Amino acid sequence: MESSAERLRGLRITSLDGDDDETVVPHQPSPAPGAAAADYEDDDEDEEEEAEVTLGVLKKPKHPGILLRHLFPSKAGGIPAWLDPVNLPSGKSSCCGFCGEPLQFVLQIYAPIEDNAAAFHRTLFVFMCPSMACLLRDQHEQWSHKHGNPCRSVKVFRCQLPRTNAFYSTEPPKHDGSDKPLFPGAPVCHWCGTWKGDKICSSCKKARYCSEKHQALHWRTGHKNDCLQLISSSDSSKSVLPAIGKVPASTSWPEFEIEIDYEATFDSDSCDENNSKSLVMQRHGKPDAMMQSWMDQFEADADNKCWASFQERVSRAPKQVLRYCREPNAKPFWALSSGCPANADIPSCSSCKGPLCYEFQIMPQLLYYFGVGNQPDSLDWATIAVYTCQGSCDQSVSYKEEFAWVQLYPTTTTRR
Ligand SMILES: [Zn+2]
Ligand SMILES: [Zn+2]
Ligand SMILES: [Zn+2]
Ligand SMILES: [Zn+2]
Repeated sequence: MESSAERLRGLRITSLDGDDDETVVPHQPSPAPGAAAADYEDDDEDEEEEAEVTLGVLKKPKHPGILLRHLFPSKAGGIPAWLDPVNLPSGKSSCCGFCGEPLQFVLQIYAPIEDNAAAFHRTLFVFMCPSMACLLRDQHEQWSHKHGNPCRSVKVFRCQLPRTNAFYSTEPPKHDGSDKPLFPGAPVCHWCGTWKGDKICSSCKKARYCSEKHQALHWRTGHKNDCLQLISSSDSSKSVLPAIGKVPASTSWPEFEIEIDYEATFDSDSCDENNSKSLVMQRHGKPDAMMQSWMDQFEADADNKCWASFQERVSRAPKQVLRYCREPNAKPFWALSSGCPANADIPSCSSCKGPLCYEFQIMPQLLYYFGVGNQPDSLDWATIAVYTCQGSCDQSVSYKEEFAWVQLYPTTTTRR
């Protein structure tokens, strides 16, 4: 059986060189992930065999260049490395369905599909509105719309390309500093660095924005002065506009590389209990007024049991921010038994109308790395499960919107 980890590591790219797999693969896979997993499953023998899960953990990039689009990165925070750098999502697609503001980049995963030539390169992009008020409204929409979710504050886009395409070489990247994209990307917003910069400053005619909101923010934080400078200087090399890929730190979450490995390679003995609790619980207090109160309240109920088993499983690899498994029998690992979708709650593919299947989930630990605070209106979730087109269809637009199911903690859903 082909493993998700291998796919995620871009095996497809390394295999272009024949059997030479030393360029991209960061770790060798565990020789027997199945056997190691079996040790953990002693107490539920009745369960059908579990699909092999790979985990994503965050690393500070060794140097900034390794997260550029022509190296097909998996990354969190910063700005997206658009796979198709020209036909970006725009208009309503790029904005929160509630407040209407441009969405913020959360993460992207490079996940090509071995037996699908149209998905030789394939990347999934997740965006989110940083407002918790919008996420709470999103919750409501998620339940009330059985088929499709026209209004969302969390959006997932899938982009894929065949091996021969206008943007990248058919040869795998060499990772020696000589790799370059074949094609420049569309100009992006000078404020967020994320979305297409279709609007141009009417004074300097140089600064570009995705939205009036970002133009206003840029104006207030310095462009008011820089704009005059841009008008008077004809030397474009001395531009005061930020270089491509450089945006004000305040406009994005901190940038990380996502490293992928099998769950079974994380040895439970080597992780210390306190540490494991800390990442999930840290943001929730000591050990957690909020969490403890509802655990007492619902003692021994289904949510409590589910949460305990979620905690136990996560503690094997406490730093995981992502769980990935695109196998037919894969299911999300819910943090709670309430707030899970029924099959009927998962819509069909918005492009081909075919079925969606579960592909990965985002863990709450990501919020810790993003430095999201613990105020009542701070962003918070128990898990976000992403469902993608089973056939990874290749029609219509370059960025196809997939489906995310957000599970919140009961305290979050009831606290306002
Ligand atoms: Zn919003
Ligand atoms: Zn913008
Ligand atoms: Zn200007
Ligand atoms: Zn489809």
